[in-house]
Amino acid sequence: MAADRACVLAWLRRSAQALHEQRQYLTDLDAAIGDGDHGINMDRGFIAVLDKLPTVAEADVGTILKTVGTTLVSTVGGASGPLYGTAFLRAGTALAGKQELQPDDVVLGFNAALEGIMARGRTQRGEKTMVDALGPAYDALKASVDAGRPLSEALRAAATAAEQGMQATIPLLATKGRASYLGERSIGHQDPGATSATLFLQAMLDGR
Ligand code: ADP
Ligand code: MG
Repeated sequence: MAADRACVLAWLRRSAQALHEQRQYLTDLDAAIGDGDHGINMDRGFIAVLDKLPTVAEADVGTILKTVGTTLVSTVGGASGPLYGTAFLRAGTALAGKQELQPDDVVLGFNAALEGIMARGRTQRGEKTMVDALGPAYDALKASVDAGRPLSEALRAAATAAEQGMQATIPLLATKGRASYLGERSIGHQDPGATSATLFLQAMLDGR
């Protein structure tokens, strides 16, 4: 089963809706260990993305994802704008010209996104960031696709792994981003970026 342009556009719309609905939750998480703007940042960015989607309604998947990336970079302040922006730009470049995505393409695009965030953020896993949800999600996706499972099942495994990774940020010490300023006091709180990352993965499931 492949994911066509309509699937990708529907995923982006569901992501925008989830980020809007969870805006206060993401902001509360960020208020505990950051500056309380993560929900505001992500909601602002995806309202701008929704505005742009009609201009790429007939475009290939790579172009759609690159457009999301440039929109996020130009509308979202804070760390998360450039990081998620880079992720979408890199995925879009990896998937340039594709009209639909086979399971292997989804793995390729996800890998490009993850590597882009890690390079831009100079982040490894275990530093209490979005990478702690996205890394395990990528591993689960790849393992499932490599095992020949259908895309719907691979995405479900990825979303479950993201959620587990998100919860596993709670005991971690933050060593990147604003939360790192808190040192030991960052321990015991769930990372907001790992939470928004999980929303993106969960939004891949709906409607399937
Ligand atoms: P800011 O920290 O500038 O206020 P946001 O609140 O929108 O930006 O985003 C905070 C989230 O960004 C964190 O919860 C974390 O997941 C992520 N983050 C911050 N710095 C990095 C980094 N260097 N690498 C990866 N993710 C990061
Ligand atoms: Mg913040």
